[in-house]
Amino acid sequence: MDVRVRYAPSPTGLQHIGGIRTALFNYFFARANGGKFILRVEDTDRERYSDESLEDLYSTLEWLGIKWDEGPVVGGPYGPYIQSERFDIYREYAQRLVDEGKAYYCFCTPERLEELRKEQAASKSEYQGYDRHCAHLSDSEIKELLRQGIKPVIRFRVPTEGKTTFHDILMGDITRRNRDISPDPVILKSDGFPTYHLANVIDDHLMKITHIMRAQEWIPSGPLHVLLYEAFGWEVPQYCHLPMVMGKDGQKLSKRHGSTAVRDFRAKGYLPEAIINYVTLVGWSLDGETEFFSKEDLEKCFTMEGIHKAPAVFDYKKLDWFNGQYIRQADNARLSSLIAPYLEEAGYVSKPLTDSDKALVEKIVPPVKERMKVLSDVVPLTAFLFEDNAVTDKAIYIAKGSDETKTGEALRKGSCILLSGLKGGEKEEVIEEKLSSLAAELGIKVNGVFQPIRVAITNSTVSLPLFDSIRLLGMDETEKRLARAVKLFEEN
Ligand code: GLU
Ligand code: ZN
Repeated sequence: MDVRVRYAPSPTGLQHIGGIRTALFNYFFARANGGKFILRVEDTDRERYSDESLEDLYSTLEWLGIKWDEGPVVGGPYGPYIQSERFDIYREYAQRLVDEGKAYYCFCTPERLEELRKEQAASKSEYQGYDRHCAHLSDSEIKELLRQGIKPVIRFRVPTEGKTTFHDILMGDITRRNRDISPDPVILKSDGFPTYHLANVIDDHLMKITHIMRAQEWIPSGPLHVLLYEAFGWEVPQYCHLPMVMGKDGQKLSKRHGSTAVRDFRAKGYLPEAIINYVTLVGWSLDGETEFFSKEDLEKCFTMEGIHKAPAVFDYKKLDWFNGQYIRQADNARLSSLIAPYLEEAGYVSKPLTDSDKALVEKIVPPVKERMKVLSDVVPLTAFLFEDNAVTDKAIYIAKGSDETKTGEALRKGSCILLSGLKGGEKEEVIEEKLSSLAAELGIKVNGVFQPIRVAITNSTVSLPLFDSIRLLGMDETEKRLARAVKLFEEN
């Protein structure tokens, strides 16, 4: 069998972690099986549709390097791939169900349906939903209502007896009593727009989709979809509903946990390879052990068997860790062009970069590369080079286990050791050695000497390595800032 899978998002919001995980699983499953990955835009909900979310869909997939074999823009043999361009198809198939008695026109007014809802709620009746009022209208009644110009919806006749089972590769058989399925749902609205269920089933069939991998929240729609396939006389594709994506607290991942839009991760400076690697591990594993996967690896080794049943936790810290790893692996020229926009945005360099800015950015890359978790970290890490906000709170200079007097001494003597060492061309290790001896002499830990020096030079307790910072800042400026700190501790 030729595998054909699809990612079928509704452009009603930004692409988020859960959605993109669905896209990745489908994409890798297709690639690993020599199949086709199809992109379909399910934009039947015109009220919630936005151009912005459609653009976000395209740009996010492009950024991740996920190419679709068939779909919008690229086309394909079963297009169009945007549902709003397929309304004629849905109307035709809905009419076919009406002609065969498997669906029917309903002329009920919104007022009547509202009335019904209220009554059912008030009487706490076990039966909720449409009362099948129009299920048995005669041909002449229908003709008359149509003649009056009333535009009907089309409802699908759900059997009242029996059960419907659908098979899920992960979950096994899922069975529901037909009478528990929503009674006779609308499949085509009075304006001729299909509802999600109809369009989704028709398209999966016409586009020859073999496996439906989608979020678990679609499981409740499964039985209805199976009934629709059966009504059309079509083969049901294989289902594989994907484990939920949760936050660390066991609740469904949402904005409460942090960013969920891929666009936000991108803006903060996550690399696409880190997102791909980590997000694919949310609910999937190869052997329970291997952690690093490139996109190319996954295109070969992704398996459906590796998908977990249990809900999966999205761990922001773990993603940061992966991102840090990928930043350290990235080559310096690429990193230069990736960090430049953050420095431009901060106003630290000009836009476009001048030649000297370019040289500076290149110099910044090697030390920041070791310290960044996300690319935007470059701004706080290099702020000391572009703006001089001297720390005036002495407490910040004072390391644990030290005190004000010793810190003042550490700064005074430490500055001399450092500056004369550097000017005299001493090796960094030698200077470090001497600074450590100074700490011993003062009866404090090494950090009691290094911390105040670092704060003096970089105006911060989190910074680049000391000698890298000095190299970037230059000797004159370093000397000036050290002297300033020494003076701060001399004042009372
Ligand atoms: N348009 C649906 C969504 O946005 C697709 C569900 C499916 O994959 O069948 O989630
Ligand atoms: Zn009706």
